[in-house]
Amino acid sequence: MTDIILPEVSSGQAELVDPFGRSVTYLRLSVTDRCDFRCVYCMSENMTFLPKKDVLTLEELDRLATAFIDKGVRKLRLTGGEPLVRRNIMSLISDLSRHLKSGALEELTLTTNGSQLRRFAGELFRHGVRRINVSLDTRDPRKFKDITRWGDVDKVLDGIRAAQDVGLQIKINMVALKCFNEDEIGPMLEWCHDEGMDLTLIETMPLGEIDGDRTDQYLPLSLVRGKLVEKFELEDIPYKTGGPARYVKVKQTGGRLGFITPLTHNFCESCNRVRLTCTGTLYMCLGQEDAADLRAPLRASEGNELVSQAIDEAISRKPKGHDFIIDRRHKRPALGRHMSMTGG
Ligand code: SAM
Ligand code: SF4
Repeated sequence: MTDIILPEVSSGQAELVDPFGRSVTYLRLSVTDRCDFRCVYCMSENMTFLPKKDVLTLEELDRLATAFIDKGVRKLRLTGGEPLVRRNIMSLISDLSRHLKSGALEELTLTTNGSQLRRFAGELFRHGVRRINVSLDTRDPRKFKDITRWGDVDKVLDGIRAAQDVGLQIKINMVALKCFNEDEIGPMLEWCHDEGMDLTLIETMPLGEIDGDRTDQYLPLSLVRGKLVEKFELEDIPYKTGGPARYVKVKQTGGRLGFITPLTHNFCESCNRVRLTCTGTLYMCLGQEDAADLRAPLRASEGNELVSQAIDEAISRKPKGHDFIIDRRHKRPALGRHMSMTGG
């Protein structure tokens, strides 16, 4: 197999514009709701997963992703659940890479827990993937086991090395959790930047029933930043990756640090994305229940006309934003669905 040489991307006009004038150019596609970990803030230990018949085939996922790309989506992120545990996922990635070759798609990427990276890093690179996000909340083996319930941090660290060796650029995502990894944020920052990786911190979001209490986990990033500036000089920079993170440059390390703050700072005004689940349900906002079913129109005919209409109709309903709240009075999750359905 030969490596992909990525062409210059044509700056085609986005066709998907929501009622608030925001162009939708970014699709996050959850390819499975299953996962080999059970992170405590994401899933309960005993999850009931979707029956196979409800899950779109790889061909159907490709058809839907292609329908979005035809409508101006430039960035496609595969997520899950854990995208790399979906059977034959590499054949989907290989097929989707044709949109990179044609220049229709600017970026094909994924968010992964890293457990399968040693096996797949080389193939990902060969199919045109250049940057990936790896979730890592702690590097301490015992704490890693506690937070993921089933994970092995050495395997993840080994996967990260494998990805670096083949030339994938890595951004580490770390969910900031009160009394769990607060003290590790500084060391994690230094480690990431030493390794040439960006770090993004994420606030926990109230999605789905979990076994614990979210008020015990929630750590506002405003507090984290307040702590970090005691040791590091942080300079706000306009760097953007197409995501909701706000970046700073860390003077001492020269590296970048991102903050994703759905709770302390609402980032909806610049939202350019929609999320599609592995059953073909399109969520126009991570923080709202409203969704559109694309599976029925997809399965109703072989052509993409019905799907295309359903996408247009869904985008015309994209809401202005979300209003997550985590406090003692709001014990229930803001939304019933888990993050593993929409992939973050
Ligand atoms: N399994 C992959 C992974 O962990 O990277 C991809 C899916 S996971 C749902 C995507 C991201 O969502 C991860 O970085 C994870 O830490 C984050 N996440 C999951 N549940 C969350 C929650 N309730 N609040 C904030 N982030 C969450
Ligand atoms: Fe799995 Fe990712 Fe959720 Fe952890 S955060 S349980 S790795 S889907």
